[in-house]
Amino acid sequence: MTETPDEKDPAERKMRFLFAVRSRGVTDARVLNAMERIDRGAFVKGLFAERAYEDMPLPIACGQTISQPSVVGLMTQALNISPRDKVLEVGTGSGYQAAILSQLARRVYTVDRHRRLVREATELFRALGLTNITALAADGSFGLPEQAPFDRILVTAAAEDPPGPLLAQLKIGGIMVVPVGQTDAVQNLIKVTRLEQGYDYEELRPVRFVPLVEGIGAD
Ligand code: SAH
Repeated sequence: MTETPDEKDPAERKMRFLFAVRSRGVTDARVLNAMERIDRGAFVKGLFAERAYEDMPLPIACGQTISQPSVVGLMTQALNISPRDKVLEVGTGSGYQAAILSQLARRVYTVDRHRRLVREATELFRALGLTNITALAADGSFGLPEQAPFDRILVTAAAEDPPGPLLAQLKIGGIMVVPVGQTDAVQNLIKVTRLEQGYDYEELRPVRFVPLVEGIGAD
């Protein structure tokens, strides 16, 4: 794609970015405001930085990916976060999704199995003044028992089933959004609501995520 002068203008670029996200179904004003405030360009490094404002997933360190912005928006919208909520994200990656969540929730905990990603995201959160996010190196399939229960849980890696410990760490009335399915096939984004008794499951849309992997990574 050749670059037009317009695409170099940050305001124009941001407008196109938000237009793309909105046209894919992100209509919640609070979510759109959060996506306007958080600059995705800060979360993409190196070769791919110039593509940060396109609606596509991009490679990040440790062989992982930063999700497609419209998918970030749709997942955030499905969580229906209120300002008093304590949120857990499994799969920090670049930190972009956690930064969006931080604009809507009281407190965000985000865990990743790669220490390097946790370290780099923590530095970014500090530089951007996002003081209500804590990033930790952990196997998120076990959740974060020391901070449980959570009002909202977002899993940004695909599991074969919603992990039991995460279901258990959801408050009654709480919502979890999780991509479910085999990693080399189409996965489904699922919204789980914890009821007084049991859980309600709703299929949202087909998606494609990197797999949820057990254990802590070597880096
Ligand atoms: N939310 C991220 C994108 C996540 S990509 C963003 O906004 O950029 C999925 C992430 O899940 C990867 O960084 C991967 O390391 C992490 N992951 C995979 N399995 C995990 C597990 N069991 N526990 C914690 N993190 C895991």
